[in-house]
Amino acid sequence: MINKVGVIGAGTMGHGIAQVCAMAGMDVVLADANTEVLERALSKVKANLAKGVARGKVTEEVRDLALSKLTGGDLFAAATRADLVVEAVPERLALKQTIFREVEAIAPASCILATNTSSLSVAKISSSLADPGRMVGTHFFNPVHIMALLEVIRSKHTRNDVVEHIQSFGERIGKTVIVVHDFPGFATSRLGVCLGMEAIRMVEQGVASPEDIDTAMVLGYRHPVGPLKLTDMVGLDVRMAIGEYLARELDNKAFEPPKLMRDMVEAGKLGKKSGQGFYSW
Ligand code: NAD
Repeated sequence: MINKVGVIGAGTMGHGIAQVCAMAGMDVVLADANTEVLERALSKVKANLAKGVARGKVTEEVRDLALSKLTGGDLFAAATRADLVVEAVPERLALKQTIFREVEAIAPASCILATNTSSLSVAKISSSLADPGRMVGTHFFNPVHIMALLEVIRSKHTRNDVVEHIQSFGERIGKTVIVVHDFPGFATSRLGVCLGMEAIRMVEQGVASPEDIDTAMVLGYRHPVGPLKLTDMVGLDVRMAIGEYLARELDNKAFEPPKLMRDMVEAGKLGKKSGQGFYSW
């Protein structure tokens, strides 16, 4: 049973992961290399919970429980006596490997080590561990407290009991769990990015406007949001990097970022975060 969770990295994803674990009654220590980020993250969790209560989505009891269970700390505090450590630091292999080596030296031998990577190989991240069998991918979606999916990635080393523990952890935090093998892009990024790249190629070729291509998928295929708007929301630069990685790893041109995307990134049109992408924000 997972009772104590350490979350390393308190950015976009880490603070949300900490929040959902604390809401389920687990003791959570959230850590970040940057103390200002950590303070902001704890405030964001408070604000999310307050909003949830105001909208009738979160009870006052769950809010109070979550606030009493969540504390900020450092990597040592997050890993000590932890049943599960979830890493949510930037998408850099060497950084993730270093963090897990540090965590492995501190955490109990039974502690499950989980990475929130959105595309990197879980086996490679675990390659420097003494026990790679206890590592698993836990791919959460943004915003974590709202998105229902948890994509669990098992590497060729991941033990069955680790997957089983993570499946019940996922259920306890209210997520629907899918289990995917450790292929580049897993299930979600591989399908989502492929669709996004093709939609951009269609804009480039003049097939239709971004609005009409998105409407095609929203009304014709019941997607909640079209592939171009979604690309704007994720960030063109972020998606371009994933596309390049998948094109290389899967040896598949379908993932190669189209010239239009490269030009837009070069011009600083990164989507929502820059105010301009396929849409004006
Ligand atoms: P982010 O940049 O918002 O947060 C990362 C945090 O890690 C930062 O606050 C940074 O200060 C901290 N950090 C860096 N080095 C550290 C260290 N050595 N020790 C402790 N903390 C350190 O990034 P994010 O968007 O939250 O992404 C984190 C991971 O989640 C990445 O692997 C990313 O690919 C993945 N992911 C992101 C999203 C998304 O929508 N943003 C979705 C799914 C998965």
